Amino acid sequence: MKASPNVTCYLNCSVVDIVIGEHESLVRELTVVNAAGKRSTFRAKQFVLACGGLENPRMLLNANKVRPNGIGNDNVGRYFMEHRVSFPGVVLLSGGNADLRYYRRNGLPSGDYVEGSLHLSAETARAERICNTQFSMEQYDGIRTQGDASLSKLREGLKKFISGGGWMHDFNKHMGNVICDIDSVASNIARRVTGDQGDTSVWLLKSEVEQTPNPNSRVTLIDEVDDLGLRRINLNWETSEIDRYSLVRSLELMGEEMGRLGFGRVQIDMDDNPNAWSRFDSWGFHHAGTTRMSTDPKNGVVDGDCRVHGVGNLHVVGNSVFTTVGTSNPTFTIVSLSVRLAGHLKGLLTA
Ligand SMILES: Cc1cc2nc3c(=O)[nH]c(=O)nc-3n(C[C@H](O)[C@H](O)[C@H](O)COP(=O)(O)OP(=O)(O)OC[C@H]3O[C@@H](n4cnc5c(N)ncnc54)[C@H](O)[C@@H]3O)c2cc1C
Repeated sequence: MKASPNVTCYLNCSVVDIVIGEHESLVRELTVVNAAGKRSTFRAKQFVLACGGLENPRMLLNANKVRPNGIGNDNVGRYFMEHRVSFPGVVLLSGGNADLRYYRRNGLPSGDYVEGSLHLSAETARAERICNTQFSMEQYDGIRTQGDASLSKLREGLKKFISGGGWMHDFNKHMGNVICDIDSVASNIARRVTGDQGDTSVWLLKSEVEQTPNPNSRVTLIDEVDDLGLRRINLNWETSEIDRYSLVRSLELMGEEMGRLGFGRVQIDMDDNPNAWSRFDSWGFHHAGTTRMSTDPKNGVVDGDCRVHGVGNLHVVGNSVFTTVGTSNPTFTIVSLSVRLAGHLKGLLTA
Protein backbone atom coordinates (compact mmCIF):
# COMPACT_ATOMS: atom_id res chain seq x y z
CA MET A 1 0.00 0.00 0.00
CA LYS A 2 2.92 2.32 0.76
CA ALA A 3 3.98 2.02 -2.86
CA SER A 4 0.54 2.99 -4.22
CA PRO A 5 0.35 6.69 -5.08
CA ASN A 6 -3.45 6.67 -4.87
CA VAL A 7 -3.83 4.99 -1.44
CA THR A 8 -3.74 6.92 1.85
CA CYS A 9 -3.88 4.74 4.92
CA TYR A 10 -4.80 6.18 8.33
CA LEU A 11 -3.74 3.89 11.17
CA ASN A 12 -5.12 3.76 14.74
CA CYS A 13 -8.38 5.38 13.73
CA SER A 14 -11.84 3.98 14.44
CA VAL A 15 -14.97 4.72 12.48
CA VAL A 16 -17.64 5.57 15.04
CA ASP A 17 -20.47 6.66 12.78
CA ILE A 18 -21.68 6.28 9.21
CA VAL A 19 -23.62 9.47 8.53
CA ILE A 20 -26.45 9.09 6.06
CA GLY A 21 -28.42 11.97 4.49
CA GLU A 22 -31.86 12.68 5.91
CA HIS A 23 -33.56 12.92 2.55
CA GLU A 24 -31.30 11.23 0.01
CA SER A 25 -30.26 7.57 0.41
CA LEU A 26 -26.55 8.24 0.29
CA VAL A 27 -23.80 8.09 2.90
CA ARG A 28 -22.48 11.62 3.34
CA GLU A 29 -19.49 11.05 5.61
CA LEU A 30 -17.83 8.89 8.22
CA THR A 31 -17.04 10.06 11.72
CA VAL A 32 -13.62 8.85 12.78
CA VAL A 33 -11.81 9.02 16.15
CA ASN A 34 -8.03 8.71 16.38
CA ALA A 35 -5.98 7.27 19.25
CA ALA A 36 -5.71 10.71 20.89
CA GLY A 37 -9.52 10.99 20.88
CA LYS A 38 -9.64 13.60 18.09
CA ARG A 39 -12.78 13.38 15.91
CA SER A 40 -12.69 13.97 12.14
CA THR A 41 -15.01 13.44 9.22
CA PHE A 42 -14.17 11.70 5.96
CA ARG A 43 -16.17 12.35 2.79
CA ALA A 44 -16.13 10.24 -0.39
CA LYS A 45 -18.23 9.34 -3.39
CA GLN A 46 -18.24 5.65 -2.53
CA PHE A 47 -17.73 3.92 0.84
CA VAL A 48 -16.75 0.31 1.63
CA LEU A 49 -17.36 -1.25 5.02
CA ALA A 50 -14.82 -4.04 5.61
CA CYS A 51 -14.65 -4.44 9.39
CA GLY A 52 -15.21 -8.21 9.71
CA GLY A 53 -18.23 -10.48 10.14
CA LEU A 54 -19.26 -9.12 13.54
CA GLU A 55 -18.22 -5.47 13.24
CA ASN A 56 -19.87 -4.97 9.82
CA PRO A 57 -23.41 -5.47 11.19
CA ARG A 58 -22.44 -3.68 14.39
CA MET A 59 -21.40 -0.56 12.46
CA LEU A 60 -24.63 -0.60 10.41
CA LEU A 61 -26.84 -1.13 13.48
CA ASN A 62 -25.02 1.57 15.46
CA ALA A 63 -25.52 4.15 12.69
CA ASN A 64 -29.05 4.97 13.90
CA LYS A 65 -29.14 8.77 14.12
CA VAL A 66 -31.28 9.18 10.99
CA ARG A 67 -32.80 5.70 10.69
CA PRO A 68 -33.73 4.40 14.18
CA ASN A 69 -32.92 0.77 13.31
CA GLY A 70 -29.61 1.67 11.68
CA ILE A 71 -28.55 1.45 8.05
CA GLY A 72 -29.73 -1.51 5.98
CA ASN A 73 -32.84 -3.66 6.27
CA ASP A 74 -34.07 -6.12 8.92
CA ASN A 75 -31.63 -8.77 7.67
CA VAL A 76 -28.62 -6.90 9.12
CA GLY A 77 -27.12 -9.13 11.82
CA ARG A 78 -29.23 -12.17 10.95
CA TYR A 79 -28.00 -15.50 9.51
CA PHE A 80 -24.82 -15.50 11.60
CA MET A 81 -22.86 -18.62 10.67
CA GLU A 82 -19.63 -20.15 11.90
CA HIS A 83 -17.72 -23.35 11.38
CA ARG A 84 -18.45 -25.47 14.38
CA VAL A 85 -15.26 -27.40 15.11
CA SER A 86 -15.48 -30.63 17.05
CA PHE A 87 -13.74 -33.91 17.65
CA PRO A 88 -16.69 -36.23 17.06
CA GLY A 89 -14.94 -39.56 16.90
CA VAL A 90 -11.92 -41.64 16.06
CA VAL A 91 -10.79 -43.73 13.12
CA LEU A 92 -9.43 -47.12 14.10
CA LEU A 93 -7.26 -48.21 11.21
CA SER A 94 -6.42 -51.86 10.80
CA GLY A 95 -3.57 -53.29 8.80
CA GLY A 96 -1.06 -50.60 9.72
CA ASN A 97 0.08 -50.30 6.10
CA ALA A 98 -2.12 -47.45 4.94
CA ASP A 99 -0.09 -44.58 3.53
CA LEU A 100 -1.37 -41.62 5.50
CA ARG A 101 1.41 -39.14 4.73
CA TYR A 102 -1.04 -36.93 2.86
CA TYR A 103 -3.23 -36.58 5.98
CA ARG A 104 -0.40 -35.54 8.32
CA ARG A 105 0.60 -31.91 8.73
CA ASN A 106 3.29 -31.58 6.07
CA GLY A 107 5.45 -28.61 7.00
CA LEU A 108 6.64 -26.18 4.34
CA PRO A 109 9.86 -24.11 4.50
CA SER A 110 7.66 -21.01 5.02
CA GLY A 111 6.43 -22.44 8.34
CA ASP A 112 2.96 -23.16 6.91
CA TYR A 113 1.72 -26.69 6.43
CA VAL A 114 -0.35 -28.70 3.98
CA GLU A 115 -2.74 -31.33 5.24
CA GLY A 116 -5.27 -33.53 3.41
CA SER A 117 -8.82 -33.77 4.68
CA LEU A 118 -11.77 -36.08 4.06
CA HIS A 119 -15.02 -34.87 2.49
CA LEU A 120 -18.13 -36.53 1.15
CA SER A 121 -18.50 -36.11 -2.58
CA ALA A 122 -20.89 -33.36 -3.68
CA GLU A 123 -23.22 -36.01 -5.17
CA THR A 124 -23.40 -37.94 -1.91
CA ALA A 125 -24.04 -34.81 0.18
CA ARG A 126 -26.79 -33.80 -2.27
CA ALA A 127 -28.37 -37.26 -2.33
CA GLU A 128 -28.34 -37.42 1.48
CA ARG A 129 -29.63 -33.80 1.69
CA ILE A 130 -26.97 -32.88 4.22
CA CYS A 131 -24.54 -29.97 4.70
CA ASN A 132 -20.87 -30.12 3.76
CA THR A 133 -18.46 -31.49 6.32
CA GLN A 134 -14.71 -31.87 6.34
CA PHE A 135 -12.53 -34.05 8.53
CA SER A 136 -8.84 -33.81 9.24
CA MET A 137 -7.07 -36.56 11.15
CA GLU A 138 -4.62 -36.32 14.03
CA GLN A 139 -2.74 -39.34 15.30
CA TYR A 140 -3.94 -39.84 18.82
CA ASP A 141 -1.77 -40.90 21.74
CA GLY A 142 -4.07 -40.16 24.69
CA ILE A 143 -6.96 -42.29 25.88
CA ARG A 144 -7.87 -43.80 22.57
CA THR A 145 -11.44 -45.01 22.68
CA GLN A 146 -14.34 -45.09 25.12
CA GLY A 147 -13.32 -48.70 25.84
CA ASP A 148 -9.80 -47.61 26.89
CA ALA A 149 -11.21 -44.81 29.04
CA SER A 150 -13.66 -47.25 30.64
CA LEU A 151 -10.89 -49.77 31.30
CA SER A 152 -9.06 -47.10 33.33
CA LYS A 153 -12.30 -46.33 35.22
CA LEU A 154 -12.83 -50.03 35.97
CA ARG A 155 -9.26 -50.31 37.26
CA GLU A 156 -9.67 -47.30 39.56
CA GLY A 157 -13.12 -48.52 40.73
CA LEU A 158 -11.87 -52.02 41.51
CA LYS A 159 -8.83 -50.66 43.39
CA LYS A 160 -11.18 -48.52 45.53
CA PHE A 161 -13.48 -51.50 46.14
CA ILE A 162 -10.59 -53.72 47.21
CA SER A 163 -9.39 -51.09 49.66
CA GLY A 164 -12.82 -50.92 51.32
CA GLY A 165 -14.79 -48.44 49.12
CA GLY A 166 -18.27 -49.11 47.69
CA TRP A 167 -19.06 -50.97 44.46
CA MET A 168 -19.01 -48.87 41.25
CA HIS A 169 -22.47 -47.56 40.34
CA ASP A 170 -21.51 -47.43 36.62
CA PHE A 171 -19.75 -50.81 36.38
CA ASN A 172 -22.14 -52.12 33.68
CA LYS A 173 -21.70 -49.03 31.47
CA HIS A 174 -17.89 -49.24 31.57
CA MET A 175 -17.89 -53.00 31.08
CA GLY A 176 -20.14 -52.48 28.01
CA ASN A 177 -17.70 -49.92 26.55
CA VAL A 178 -14.76 -52.29 27.03
CA ILE A 179 -16.61 -55.14 25.29
CA CYS A 180 -17.72 -52.91 22.37
CA ASP A 181 -14.16 -51.62 21.85
CA ILE A 182 -12.45 -54.90 22.61
CA ASP A 183 -10.19 -54.77 19.52
CA SER A 184 -8.70 -51.43 20.50
CA VAL A 185 -8.56 -52.32 24.22
CA ALA A 186 -6.82 -55.65 23.48
CA SER A 187 -4.29 -54.11 21.10
CA ASN A 188 -3.49 -51.36 23.60
CA ILE A 189 -2.92 -53.93 26.35
CA ALA A 190 -0.73 -55.93 23.96
CA ARG A 191 1.16 -52.75 23.07
CA ARG A 192 1.80 -52.01 26.74
CA VAL A 193 2.90 -55.58 27.52
CA THR A 194 5.14 -56.14 24.48
CA GLY A 195 6.23 -52.59 23.70
CA ASP A 196 5.16 -53.34 20.11
CA GLN A 197 3.11 -50.62 18.36
CA GLY A 198 0.63 -53.23 17.03
CA ASP A 199 -1.36 -52.88 13.83
CA THR A 200 -4.29 -50.72 14.91
CA SER A 201 -3.56 -47.06 14.73
CA VAL A 202 -6.01 -44.57 16.18
CA TRP A 203 -6.62 -41.19 14.59
CA LEU A 204 -8.66 -38.45 16.15
CA LEU A 205 -11.11 -36.89 13.70
CA LYS A 206 -11.41 -33.12 13.71
CA SER A 207 -14.50 -31.91 11.91
CA GLU A 208 -15.79 -28.62 10.56
CA VAL A 209 -19.37 -28.57 9.45
CA GLU A 210 -21.29 -26.17 7.27
CA GLN A 211 -24.07 -24.39 9.10
CA THR A 212 -27.46 -23.86 7.46
CA PRO A 213 -28.49 -20.18 7.22
CA ASN A 214 -30.81 -19.41 10.13
CA PRO A 215 -32.39 -15.94 10.58
CA ASN A 216 -32.58 -16.42 14.36
CA SER A 217 -28.83 -16.91 14.58
CA ARG A 218 -28.28 -13.25 15.03
CA VAL A 219 -26.16 -10.27 16.06
CA THR A 220 -28.10 -7.54 17.87
CA LEU A 221 -26.88 -4.65 20.03
CA ILE A 222 -27.25 -4.11 23.75
CA ASP A 223 -27.45 -0.74 25.54
CA GLU A 224 -23.97 -1.06 27.09
CA VAL A 225 -21.42 0.97 25.11
CA ASP A 226 -17.66 0.64 24.59
CA ASP A 227 -15.05 3.38 25.18
CA LEU A 228 -15.96 4.97 21.83
CA GLY A 229 -19.66 5.13 22.69
CA LEU A 230 -20.65 2.32 20.30
CA ARG A 231 -23.24 -0.17 21.54
CA ARG A 232 -21.83 -3.62 22.14
CA ILE A 233 -22.90 -6.86 20.49
CA ASN A 234 -25.23 -9.54 21.75
CA LEU A 235 -24.64 -12.70 19.72
CA ASN A 236 -27.27 -15.43 19.61
CA TRP A 237 -25.45 -18.18 17.73
CA GLU A 238 -27.89 -20.97 16.88
CA THR A 239 -26.95 -24.10 15.05
CA SER A 240 -29.69 -26.42 13.77
CA GLU A 241 -30.45 -30.10 14.10
CA ILE A 242 -29.70 -30.54 10.36
CA ASP A 243 -26.11 -29.35 11.00
CA ARG A 244 -25.67 -31.93 13.75
CA TYR A 245 -27.37 -34.65 11.70
CA SER A 246 -25.08 -33.81 8.75
CA LEU A 247 -22.06 -34.49 10.92
CA VAL A 248 -23.37 -37.78 12.31
CA ARG A 249 -24.51 -38.99 8.88
CA SER A 250 -21.14 -38.08 7.30
CA LEU A 251 -19.38 -40.08 9.99
CA GLU A 252 -21.67 -43.05 9.39
CA LEU A 253 -21.04 -42.93 5.63
CA MET A 254 -17.30 -42.64 6.18
CA GLY A 255 -17.39 -45.59 8.59
CA GLU A 256 -19.35 -47.70 6.07
CA GLU A 257 -16.86 -46.88 3.33
CA MET A 258 -13.83 -47.63 5.51
CA GLY A 259 -15.37 -50.96 6.50
CA ARG A 260 -16.16 -51.79 2.86
CA LEU A 261 -12.58 -51.03 1.80
CA GLY A 262 -11.16 -52.92 4.79
CA PHE A 263 -9.31 -49.85 6.13
CA GLY A 264 -10.80 -50.02 9.62
CA ARG A 265 -13.75 -48.46 11.37
CA VAL A 266 -15.06 -45.17 12.69
CA GLN A 267 -16.18 -44.76 16.27
CA ILE A 268 -18.71 -41.93 16.66
CA ASP A 269 -18.34 -40.06 19.92
CA MET A 270 -21.05 -37.38 19.82
CA ASP A 271 -22.52 -35.94 22.99
CA ASP A 272 -26.30 -36.24 23.51
CA ASN A 273 -26.34 -32.65 24.76
CA PRO A 274 -27.19 -30.46 21.69
CA ASN A 275 -25.14 -27.61 23.17
CA ALA A 276 -21.96 -29.70 23.12
CA TRP A 277 -21.56 -31.93 20.12
CA SER A 278 -18.50 -33.86 21.26
CA ARG A 279 -15.80 -33.94 23.90
CA PHE A 280 -14.08 -30.88 22.42
CA ASP A 281 -16.41 -28.44 20.74
CA SER A 282 -15.33 -25.00 19.56
CA TRP A 283 -15.46 -22.75 16.49
CA GLY A 284 -13.37 -21.68 13.51
CA PHE A 285 -13.10 -17.86 13.88
CA HIS A 286 -15.05 -17.58 10.61
CA HIS A 287 -17.92 -15.15 11.23
CA ALA A 288 -20.23 -15.11 8.23
CA GLY A 289 -23.67 -14.24 6.90
CA THR A 290 -24.54 -11.10 8.89
CA THR A 291 -24.91 -8.79 5.83
CA ARG A 292 -25.77 -11.53 3.35
CA MET A 293 -25.95 -11.01 -0.40
CA SER A 294 -29.19 -11.33 -2.33
CA THR A 295 -30.70 -9.60 -5.33
CA ASP A 296 -33.94 -9.45 -3.31
CA PRO A 297 -33.82 -7.12 -0.26
CA LYS A 298 -36.29 -9.46 1.47
CA ASN A 299 -33.53 -12.08 1.63
CA GLY A 300 -30.37 -10.06 1.99
CA VAL A 301 -28.62 -6.85 2.99
CA VAL A 302 -26.38 -6.25 -0.04
CA ASP A 303 -27.00 -6.77 -3.76
CA GLY A 304 -24.82 -8.73 -6.18
CA ASP A 305 -22.30 -5.86 -6.27
CA CYS A 306 -21.97 -5.79 -2.44
CA ARG A 307 -23.97 -2.51 -2.32
CA VAL A 308 -26.32 -2.07 0.64
CA HIS A 309 -29.92 -2.26 -0.63
CA GLY A 310 -31.49 1.18 -0.44
CA VAL A 311 -28.21 3.10 -0.07
CA GLY A 312 -26.59 4.34 -3.27
CA ASN A 313 -22.93 4.53 -2.27
CA LEU A 314 -22.30 2.10 0.61
CA HIS A 315 -20.74 -1.31 -0.01
CA VAL A 316 -19.88 -4.12 2.39
CA VAL A 317 -17.22 -6.77 1.89
CA GLY A 318 -16.01 -9.70 3.97
CA ASN A 319 -17.52 -13.04 4.96
CA SER A 320 -20.55 -11.15 6.27
CA VAL A 321 -21.82 -11.10 2.66
CA PHE A 322 -21.67 -14.92 2.31
CA THR A 323 -25.10 -16.51 1.86
CA THR A 324 -23.84 -19.95 2.77
CA VAL A 325 -20.64 -20.76 4.57
CA GLY A 326 -19.42 -24.10 3.18
CA THR A 327 -16.76 -25.82 5.26
CA SER A 328 -13.60 -24.25 3.89
CA ASN A 329 -11.63 -21.34 5.29
CA PRO A 330 -13.13 -18.07 4.04
CA THR A 331 -10.26 -15.68 3.36
CA PHE A 332 -9.53 -16.67 -0.22
CA THR A 333 -13.18 -15.98 -1.12
CA ILE A 334 -13.10 -12.68 0.80
CA VAL A 335 -10.06 -11.56 -1.19
CA SER A 336 -11.74 -12.59 -4.46
CA LEU A 337 -14.88 -10.63 -3.55
CA SER A 338 -12.75 -7.60 -2.62
CA VAL A 339 -10.91 -7.65 -5.94
CA ARG A 340 -14.25 -7.97 -7.74
CA LEU A 341 -15.68 -5.04 -5.76
CA ALA A 342 -12.58 -2.93 -6.49
CA GLY A 343 -13.12 -3.52 -10.22
CA HIS A 344 -16.78 -2.59 -9.90
CA LEU A 345 -16.00 0.65 -8.02
CA LYS A 346 -13.30 1.56 -10.50
CA GLY A 347 -15.93 1.22 -13.23
CA LEU A 348 -18.37 3.43 -11.31
CA LEU A 349 -15.80 6.13 -10.57
CA THR A 350 -14.37 6.29 -14.07
CA ALA A 351 -17.71 6.05 -15.95
C1 LIG B 1 -6.93 -17.28 15.10
C2 LIG B 1 -7.54 -17.18 13.72
C3 LIG B 1 -7.13 -18.05 12.73
C4 LIG B 1 -7.66 -17.96 11.46
N1 LIG B 1 -7.23 -18.83 10.49
C5 LIG B 1 -7.70 -18.72 9.23
C6 LIG B 1 -7.20 -19.55 8.18
O1 LIG B 1 -6.33 -20.38 8.39
N2 LIG B 1 -7.73 -19.39 6.95
C7 LIG B 1 -8.71 -18.49 6.68
O2 LIG B 1 -9.16 -18.39 5.53
N3 LIG B 1 -9.19 -17.70 7.64
C8 LIG B 1 -8.71 -17.78 8.92
N4 LIG B 1 -9.20 -16.96 9.89
C9 LIG B 1 -10.29 -16.05 9.55
C10 LIG B 1 -9.75 -14.81 8.87
O3 LIG B 1 -8.83 -14.15 9.73
C11 LIG B 1 -10.92 -13.88 8.57
O4 LIG B 1 -11.88 -14.58 7.80
C12 LIG B 1 -10.45 -12.67 7.77
O5 LIG B 1 -9.44 -11.99 8.47
C13 LIG B 1 -11.61 -11.72 7.55
O6 LIG B 1 -11.15 -10.66 6.76
P1 LIG B 1 -11.84 -9.23 6.79
O7 LIG B 1 -10.93 -8.32 6.07
O8 LIG B 1 -13.26 -9.34 6.34
O9 LIG B 1 -11.92 -8.83 8.34
P2 LIG B 1 -10.74 -8.60 9.37
O10 LIG B 1 -9.50 -9.34 8.98
O11 LIG B 1 -11.35 -8.87 10.71
O12 LIG B 1 -10.39 -7.06 9.21
C14 LIG B 1 -11.29 -6.06 9.68
C15 LIG B 1 -10.45 -4.83 10.00
O13 LIG B 1 -11.35 -3.78 10.31
C16 LIG B 1 -10.86 -3.09 11.43
N5 LIG B 1 -12.01 -2.45 12.11
C17 LIG B 1 -13.02 -3.03 12.78
N6 LIG B 1 -13.86 -2.12 13.25
C18 LIG B 1 -13.39 -0.92 12.85
C19 LIG B 1 -13.82 0.43 13.02
N7 LIG B 1 -14.92 0.74 13.70
N8 LIG B 1 -13.06 1.42 12.48
C20 LIG B 1 -11.93 1.15 11.78
N9 LIG B 1 -11.48 -0.09 11.59
C21 LIG B 1 -12.19 -1.12 12.11
C22 LIG B 1 -10.20 -4.15 12.29
O14 LIG B 1 -9.27 -3.56 13.16
C23 LIG B 1 -9.55 -5.00 11.22
O15 LIG B 1 -8.27 -4.54 10.89
C24 LIG B 1 -8.67 -17.00 11.17
C25 LIG B 1 -9.08 -16.12 12.18
C26 LIG B 1 -8.52 -16.22 13.43
C27 LIG B 1 -8.98 -15.24 14.51
